[in-house]
Amino acid sequence: MREQPALERIRNNEEVPFGYSPEEAILEANRCLMCKKPKCVDGCPVEIDIPGFIHFIAEGKFREGVNRLKEKNILPAVCGRVCPQEEQCEQKCIVGIKNEPVGIGRLERFLADWEAEQGEAEFPKKTKATGKKIVIVGAGPAGITAAADLVKMGHRVDMFEALHEPGGVLVYGIPEFRLPKSIVFREIKYLQDLGVRLYTDHVIGMIKSIDELLDDYDAVFPGTGAGLPWFLNVPGENLNGVYSANEYLTRANLMKAYLFPRYKTPIVRGKRVATVGGGNVAMDCARTALRLGAEQSIIIYRRSMEEMPARNEEIHHAEEEGVIFKLLSNPAAFHGDKNNWLKEAECIQMELGEPDDSGRRRPVPIPDANFRVPIDVAVIAIGNSPNPLIPSTTPDIETGRWGNIVTDPETGKTSKEGVFAGGDVATGAATVILAMGAGKVAARGIHDYVMNQK
Ligand SMILES: Cc1cc2nc3c(=O)[nH]c(=O)nc-3n(C[C@H](O)[C@H](O)[C@H](O)COP(=O)(O)OP(=O)(O)OC[C@H]3O[C@@H](n4cnc5c(N)ncnc54)[C@H](O)[C@@H]3O)c2cc1C
Ligand code: SF4
Repeated sequence: MREQPALERIRNNEEVPFGYSPEEAILEANRCLMCKKPKCVDGCPVEIDIPGFIHFIAEGKFREGVNRLKEKNILPAVCGRVCPQEEQCEQKCIVGIKNEPVGIGRLERFLADWEAEQGEAEFPKKTKATGKKIVIVGAGPAGITAAADLVKMGHRVDMFEALHEPGGVLVYGIPEFRLPKSIVFREIKYLQDLGVRLYTDHVIGMIKSIDELLDDYDAVFPGTGAGLPWFLNVPGENLNGVYSANEYLTRANLMKAYLFPRYKTPIVRGKRVATVGGGNVAMDCARTALRLGAEQSIIIYRRSMEEMPARNEEIHHAEEEGVIFKLLSNPAAFHGDKNNWLKEAECIQMELGEPDDSGRRRPVPIPDANFRVPIDVAVIAIGNSPNPLIPSTTPDIETGRWGNIVTDPETGKTSKEGVFAGGDVATGAATVILAMGAGKVAARGIHDYVMNQK
C-alpha cells in the first residue's frame, strides 16, 4: 500500500498509509481463491464472511461488500487499520502458504473508506422492540460492539462513557497518524443512528453504582477496559518529565497537544525522549514523540528485537522514522536536576537467559554494566491493568489475579446476576478485535438472559 515518506510524515500527524484505490482493491481481491472452507474466517474473532465480502470487491460491487462486512463488524474502518491480521485471518489464508496472503485488512479498510466517501450509510431493517433495557458502561470497542448487536436485536440500549469523547483507546490511545479520529467518530455516529443513546462524562462507580443501574435496567455490560498503567517502581520515576504511556498519549491524542497552540494542552516536548517497553503502545509513544518535535526518540527494551511484542508493521514504521532501539536494556533509576526535572536514565545492560513462562528468553542483568542515557522525557509503556473502579464499587463481583472481572467465555456472564462483561476489563490489555469478539459473545449472552427473564 502506498504511504507517506518517513521523513515527511514525522513532520505531520496525517495517516501513514494512503489506502487502496478501487483498481488496486479489485486487483488484490482477485488474488482470493474464494475457498469453500475458508481458513481465514477461522482466524477472525468476529467471524466475518471474508470470501463473501472479497468476492463483492472483485466484482466491483462495493455497496454489497460493505453490507456483508457490517453484518459482523461494526468497526470495519478501525479493524482494517489496527487489527493484527498477520496473526489472525491473514496468517491462516491459504494463499499465504506460498505467497503473500490476501490483504484482508487492507480490503476491509478500502470498503469502509469507500462507504464513507459515498456519504450516507445504509442501515439494517429495524427489529421489533423487545421492551428490554440494557446499559453499556464504557464506549470502547467491547462496549460499542455489544451495543450494536443488542440494539439490532430490538433492545433499548443506553451507553455511559466516563470521558468527554466515546471510542476508548481508539481515541485516547492510538495516535491520529495510525487511526484518524474522524474515522472512529464516523463509526460511532453509525452506532447512534442505529438507536444507541450515548451519554459522555458519566463515570459509573462515581455517579451511580452497578447495583443502582440494575434498578433501572434489565442487564448491565461493563466494558471499561484496562487503563491503569504499570510503572517500573524504580527511583526517580516521580521526576518532572516522566509520564505513563496513557497520560502521554491522552495528552497528545485526545487532548490534541500536537495541535498546540490551537489546543493549549501542556505536554513536555523533550529533545531526547526515551520510551520504555516493546509493544504497540511503546511504538505509538516513540513515534508520537518525533511528531511532537523530539530530536531523538529512543526505545529502551529489556529483551532483543526477536522477542519484541509489537506488530512487525509498527516496528518497521518506527525504524523508518528514525526511532533508535536500545535493546537488552532496562532502567534501574531516573536522575534529575536540582529542580526535579528529568536528566538521565540509568540503565542495566541485560543478556538473554532461559525462556520464562511466556516462552520468551528471560532478560538477565549483566553485573557492573550499568550505563546512563541523557534524556529529558521518559514514557513508561510496560503494560496496564483493568480499570479498578467498577470492581471496587461492586463488592459482589468476582475478580481475578490482575483485578480483572471474571467472566464465562461462552456468555460473558459474571458472578453477579444481570451483569455481563468483556474486553480488556476481563482479559487484561489485549486487542481491539478480541474486545469486539467479547462484546459479541456478551450481547448474545445478554439477549438470552433478558428474553428468558420472568
Ligand atoms: C496506545 C495503544 C495502542 C494500541 N494499539 C492497538 C492496535 O494497533 N491493535 C489492536 O488490536 N489493539 C491495540 N491496542 C489495544 C486495544 O486498543 C484494546 O485492547 C481495546 O481498545 C480494548 O477495548 P475495550 O472496549 O475493552 O476497552 P477500552 O478501549 O479501554 O474502552 C473502555 C472505555 O471505558 C471507559 N470507562 C472506564 N471506566 C469507566 C467508568 N467507570 N464509567 C464509564 N466509562 C468508563 C473508558 O473511558 C473507555 O472509553 C492498543 C492499546 C493502546 C493503549
Ligand atoms: S483463506 Fe485466503 S484465499 Fe481462502 S477465502 Fe480466505 S482470504 Fe480468500
